[in-house]
Formats: sequence, C-alpha cells, structure tokens
Amino acid sequence: MKSPTDAWNCAPTRAGASARRRTRQVEVRWGDRAVRIGGGAPVLVQSMTNTDTADAIATAIQVKELAAAGSEVVRITVNTPEAAREVAAIRAQLDRMGVDVPLVGDFHYNGHKLLTQHPDCAQALSKYRINPGNVGKGARREDNFARMIEVACRYGKPVRIGVNWGSLDQELLARMMDDNARRAEPSDASEVLREALVRSAIESAQRAESLGLSGDRIVLSAKVSGVQDLITVYRELARRCDYPLHLGLTEAGIGSKGIVASTAALAVLLQEGIGDTIRVSLTPAPGEPRTKEVEVAQQILQALGLRAFAPQVIACPGCGRTTSTFFQELADKIQAYLRTQMPVWRAQYPGVESMHVAVMGCVVNGPGESKHANVGISLPGTGELPVAPVFVDGERTVTLKGERIAEEFQAIVEDYVQRRYGRAHA
Ligand code: SF4
Repeated sequence: MKSPTDAWNCAPTRAGASARRRTRQVEVRWGDRAVRIGGGAPVLVQSMTNTDTADAIATAIQVKELAAAGSEVVRITVNTPEAAREVAAIRAQLDRMGVDVPLVGDFHYNGHKLLTQHPDCAQALSKYRINPGNVGKGARREDNFARMIEVACRYGKPVRIGVNWGSLDQELLARMMDDNARRAEPSDASEVLREALVRSAIESAQRAESLGLSGDRIVLSAKVSGVQDLITVYRELARRCDYPLHLGLTEAGIGSKGIVASTAALAVLLQEGIGDTIRVSLTPAPGEPRTKEVEVAQQILQALGLRAFAPQVIACPGCGRTTSTFFQELADKIQAYLRTQMPVWRAQYPGVESMHVAVMGCVVNGPGESKHANVGISLPGTGELPVAPVFVDGERTVTLKGERIAEEFQAIVEDYVQRRYGRAHA
C-alpha cells in the first residue's frame, strides 16, 4: 500500500521553479519509496516529531499523522539508547500501517555510539542528521564525526550536515574570532558568526566526502533564528557550494510570530531559487496539532507558486458592507471541506490541487473575483438582495438563496471537481 504522501510529489506549478539554483540531487529512500532533494526536484516538505522516540507507538502514530498531512520526510530524535532501540520498531510499525515515508534520525552528542551500537537503528533510518557542533571536542570531534560518516557509507544512507547557531562548533568560532581580532580592520562579531556557520557546514561536508561519503549523499543546513541572518547565511551557502540546502528558521516561535517569521525568511530565499527542502519549526500552541507545521510549509510553497497541494479558497476580509459572519463561516467550511476531501481527491482527481474557490462578501469585488476562480460565490452585503450568484469558470450559472446556500454551494463544488478533474474527462 502506498503512503498517503505519494501524490504530494507533484511537479512545480510555475516559473519560479525554472530559476532554481542548480544542485546535486540527493535521494532519500525507504523500500520502493524514494524522494529527491535538489537537482531540480520539487521543493520537499519535511517535519519532525515531538514525541519521545522511546515510545514507539506514540511516535509511529505521529509520524503517520505528519505523513498523511503531507510531510514527505519525517525526522525523529534519536537521543538515547532507549530511543535507538525503538527506531526499528517504529519503522516496522509504520510499514505495517502502510506508511512508507522515509525517517531521518536526529543525532547530537552520542550519535557515533548510537549508530554503531544499534545497527538495526542505522539500517531503519533513511537519512542521518549530523550536527558538527555537537559531536565532541578536539580529536574526539574528528573521530566521532568520522564514525558517523562511516556508518552512513556502510548502510548507503545520505546525511544532512545540520549546523545551528545555538550549537555552533565553538572551537571553530573561537579560532575565527581570534583571527578576526588580529586583523587591521576586524569585521563585526555577527559577521564572523555567520561566516563560521557557513564554513562549519561546508568544511564538514568536504570532510565527509574525504571520508568516502559521495557528494550526492549530502544535504546542508545552517539554521539561525533571525530572518535577516538566515537570508544572509543561505545566500552565502548557495554561492559557495552545490549541495542541496535544507531551509528553515530555527526556533521560529509560536503562533502567528512563528508563521510570519518563517514565511518571511523562506519566501525570500525560495524566490531566489535557494532551498531544496523546507521545515517550518513552529512551537505548537497548546492543543494545536503537530501537523500545523506541515500545513504552513505547504502554504508557503503554494503561495509562491512552487508546488500545489490543495485547492485554495479566496475569501475577502469582510468590511462594513458584510451583513453577517455567514460568509466567513462559509469560507471556513469550504476550506475545511476541501482539505478533508484531498486524501481521496488527490488520487481520484489529478490537478484538483490547483483549483481556486472564491467566497466573497458583497457585490463590490464578489462577482469579479468569483469570475476569476474556478468556482465562486458572491454573498449578499448590506442592503443587497438576499441572493448569492454562483460563477463557474467565469460564467454566472445559478443564484442561491435561503437557508441551504452552504450545502448547495458545496454540492456545486463537488460536481465541478468530478466533471473537471475526473479521469474520464481528463
Ligand atoms: S468584497 Fe465586499 S464585503 Fe468583501 S471586503 Fe470587499 S467590499 Fe467588503
């Protein structure tokens, strides 16, 4: 049985993709399923669990939820021997559930031990994330890093060299700060820090290659929590290497702050063709599902025209002309309906993810915006007749009124999807 994420691997939707930075391509594989990062592949969406990996059932369930939401790769932390012992069980449980999404293991401090002492863990993972700032100090750092790369080579796994400014290699940073201080015109400390991030990532990747790991098995990231810093660091990484880049603002934050900051940073870089896979590191609000980060990542890519994942609802913000909250409720209901239908529609109605549905609040922009959408409805504003004209492919078709406008409009959308995207009519 195929993973629910299979059909997310759709082609880029617009010209933005043609200007993408040229990179090597990294394949991340589990069984028959392979996803690709870089080398012209669509920008990949990934996410990370927040369960205790030692709790195999809870982790497998969350991985399944993230995959069903559209995460094409899911990362799990592997931080203890207990967690490492459960990785193969998580993988087996996912396989039993028909979820073939590749798993990435996130390693810090003891990855060299866990990967060598738990070969079933090393085998069950599809990719390893190695943080060169967290692999030890001095000679041990070199040895530990080498042991992890040896395991990657032995099992044929790709790695992400994932630098983070919260855990930057302090020895490298200290050396660079000292060198900078000796210069006649020292750079600003923040510039040295950014340069240290870039060098740590690239030099670690080069070291991995010198240890035998093929260059097409390496993805790089250098995450920071400031938008402008992230943009500067990734532009520099993109200029100086051709490894695929994993984009993400680290510790983006909670709620709208996290969403806006991530979107601001990622949009600038993606628009410049930089970034081959993204993760939106949101702090979930209490009660908010972990899948929110997948939804936001998809929305960023779809808003930029790089990928299409689900039909989009165009709704006006409402204003003094809006007679009630009815149009907001209808927009919300239609949006929820479209997302709920997507797991089925994705396979049944190819292309439906590019559909636009307009739900508008009054006659000012309602008919015009509705005509531009595949299907649109213009609800009555204050002082207007209590009727709602519906437009299909730019033509006014029916006028709805009464208590069942929402249900009738939903039926029109369903009918449109069947006629327009049904295989028999393709
Ligand atoms: S379409 Fe009408 S209700 Fe909606 S924001 Fe514009 S003027 Fe206001």
